[in-house]
Amino acid sequence: MRRIMKFGGTSVANADVVCKAAEIIKQYHDAGDELVVVVSAQRGVTDAIMKTASELLHRYDEKGISELLADLSTRHLTALKGAAPSHYEEVRIVIEHRIENLGNLLRAIYYLKELTPRSYDYVSSFGERLNVPIISACLCEMGVPSTALDACQAGVLTTRSHGDAVALPAGEERIRDHLLPLITGKGGKTGENPIVPVITGFMGCTEDGAVTTLGRGGSDYSASIIGAALDADEIWIWTDVDGIMTTDPRLVENARVIEELSYIEVMELSYFGAKVMHSRSIEPAMQKSIPVFVKNTFHPDALGTVISAGNHRDTRVVKAITYIEKVATVTVAGAQMIGRPGVAKFIFSSLAEAQVNVMMISQGSSEANITIVIDEDQAERAKECLFPLTQQCMVREVLVDRNVCAVAVVGSGMSGAHGTAGRTFSALGSAGINVMMISQGSSEVNISFVVQGDQGAHAVHVLHEEFELAHAEGEIR
Ligand code: ADP
Ligand code: ASP
Ligand code: MG
Repeated sequence: MRRIMKFGGTSVANADVVCKAAEIIKQYHDAGDELVVVVSAQRGVTDAIMKTASELLHRYDEKGISELLADLSTRHLTALKGAAPSHYEEVRIVIEHRIENLGNLLRAIYYLKELTPRSYDYVSSFGERLNVPIISACLCEMGVPSTALDACQAGVLTTRSHGDAVALPAGEERIRDHLLPLITGKGGKTGENPIVPVITGFMGCTEDGAVTTLGRGGSDYSASIIGAALDADEIWIWTDVDGIMTTDPRLVENARVIEELSYIEVMELSYFGAKVMHSRSIEPAMQKSIPVFVKNTFHPDALGTVISAGNHRDTRVVKAITYIEKVATVTVAGAQMIGRPGVAKFIFSSLAEAQVNVMMISQGSSEANITIVIDEDQAERAKECLFPLTQQCMVREVLVDRNVCAVAVVGSGMSGAHGTAGRTFSALGSAGINVMMISQGSSEVNISFVVQGDQGAHAVHVLHEEFELAHAEGEIR
């Protein structure tokens, strides 16, 4: 069996959990699996690096750099000592060298007061770079031959869209060329013995060798890219919850693990905020029909969730509710828009040029307004690029509202079933929640809507109750 196993930030955050992850890997390696391991940065490390790098643009001292480097050094060397004591000296040198490189890059950012998307990606990828040698050394400590690689060495080729890069098909052959000899043992460094590569998630490389990142939480996507290139039998996403749940368990206490989901359902869930999977991570696996398992590193015997194209036992209409807080609505309004061709074209082409990603769209039937939902961080850019519409008298005003959040009701049973929208909105109405905008995906796998920022969590609770998601299908009265 050829498996890709991805371990998220909490699953590799210290020596104890690194050893847990390595034991899981060893178990499958000893059973004869061909394995590729993809790992994230330790929980919190990517955030810390990104924060320091951005702050350096406005600081008059370098203190933030030395504090960050000291923290990274302690975290990683402590984890290394606990997870791979007999490899400590050789791997310590690698880690210290990387920390020194990161320090040089951060100092350059500080002195130049310049942080380009390219340099931001490069520094952000250090969390993963610092972590892979530790997991690999822990495997060696347990007697599993292993090598640490960065995603460039593993052949992950991406577009140049820094911060949100997408895998290029040309990378598939490179990934095969780099990894097959290792995992099959044919051509690997240890002769006929397979080697388990431990690869940095989250990062990729452009054709000319610049480091890119795949978006926050992108290590899931890395695993899927590599799995698809290698025609893996299965991709396993090891995380800190028992599987994909009916909603975020941090928000709703009685959220339940969903045993089976379709690729499309998970795409919708992750697109609308279920952080458990990166929103692009399903597509490569789906294209090759590779089942994806989501499992808990701290509870490996729990069944988890399996994601595939197949027929699923749970036939209920609504399977999960998601919620995104950091969004904004932009409304372009004015009677001048009525019957006037070209306004929508201007809006969407200007947003695309300004690299603003549109998450939801709704147009009033009177055509007197178009509302779009975007990432909150892009609101200012969107407003600026749409402002010319008012100057050209094509619209009356462009309004931005940041005090909103988006909620989505997801389930493939919705296509063809009647009444889900009615049930959703009457439950919200009865709970006194005002719906500001509605959009139903053409795939009919979701109904998404916008409510005021302080009503989002309440809306999720109300709908989780309404659709009885805390209960398995068979238990519903
Ligand atoms: P990792 O570091 O392993 O990639 P993440 O933090 O990215 O883990 O994703 C796991 C977290 O996603 C969970 O701890 C949970 O709080 C959150 N989450 C949000 N929505 C869901 C959901 N529908 N099912 C499961 N977890 C969810
Ligand atoms: N370390 C990256 C992040 O924090 C990628 C990941 O964890 O998947 O976004
Ligand atoms: Mg994640």
